Amino acid sequence: EVFYNRTGKPLNADQLAELLPGIDGFIAGLDTISAEALQAADRLIVISRYGVGLDNVDLEYARKRNIIVTNTPGSNSVSVAELAIGLILALIRQIPQATEATRAGGWPRVNGLSLEGKTVGIVGFGSIGKQLARRLAGFDCRILVYDPFPDPHFATQIGAYITSLDELLGQSDIISLHLPLTPSTHGMVDEAFLSRIKPGAFLINTARGDIVDEADLYACLQSGRLAGAALDVFCQQPPDPANPLLTLPNVIATPHMGAHTDGATNAMGWISLKDCLAVLRGEEPSFRVQ
Ligand code: NAD
Repeated sequence: EVFYNRTGKPLNADQLAELLPGIDGFIAGLDTISAEALQAADRLIVISRYGVGLDNVDLEYARKRNIIVTNTPGSNSVSVAELAIGLILALIRQIPQATEATRAGGWPRVNGLSLEGKTVGIVGFGSIGKQLARRLAGFDCRILVYDPFPDPHFATQIGAYITSLDELLGQSDIISLHLPLTPSTHGMVDEAFLSRIKPGAFLINTARGDIVDEADLYACLQSGRLAGAALDVFCQQPPDPANPLLTLPNVIATPHMGAHTDGATNAMGWISLKDCLAVLRGEEPSFRVQ
């Protein structure tokens, strides 16, 4: 039997522990697939992750139990890159703020920044980072990328420069995060990281909330050290309405919607279903993680 969460909301470990007994294949979104949730899964053979990030899966426990894990690499990278482009433009041209003002009967003069001639730094030059860089190339900006395992050939092809993280942070007017959440990137964007950023720069996070220390980011935005931030992801989702970041006029927030487009939904759905069924038939899936 295959289980797929149709509620549109991620399930917590307790809910999963009730739903997973008797299930052979689990097509999983952002549900909390912890050891506690998996302990109850008495028949589970495969967790087929509908999406890319694996930070919500206890991979070590799954390995111990010989549960195969798959994901859908590349399936949503164009959609997330397009959202990042949208968030960059929304931030530097203050599109949401201008909409609010116009709706309220105002007609302010909104002076924004042009992307042309600016330096954009991409932290994490994997599937999404590359799609973003390709799209940015058309905006005539300078593109810097940092990745511990960069792809020089791709960077050269699109005219992006591979740099150190320090160089990227110090030179970029706009910084976009596209790295995975792992124990080593948890809280990586903290006060020390933010203090290396060029004053007045903008930060975009469509990766994972926990990569950023939200209190440190708030302090940096409030002081004006950072000009603005666009966040598609938060440490707690949905964020507490009292989350101070949501009170700042220079913050744009979206509800983790990077992968929610027709194309990405279709691709993630087909790949995760095919791989789930492949494992259950005893065949090798296309995108086995472990
Ligand atoms: P990917 O695996 O193709 O690329 C990630 C890249 O980050 C890799 O090249 C890796 O070497 C690099 N990296 C790892 N540690 C790094 C570090 N410390 N500094 C800089 N780079 C580092 O993954 P992807 O498809 O590009 O996705 C990236 C992340 O985006 C996912 O892990 C997921 O968390 C997030 N994501 C968010 C949404 C959304 O809806 N907002 C959708 C899809 C993915």
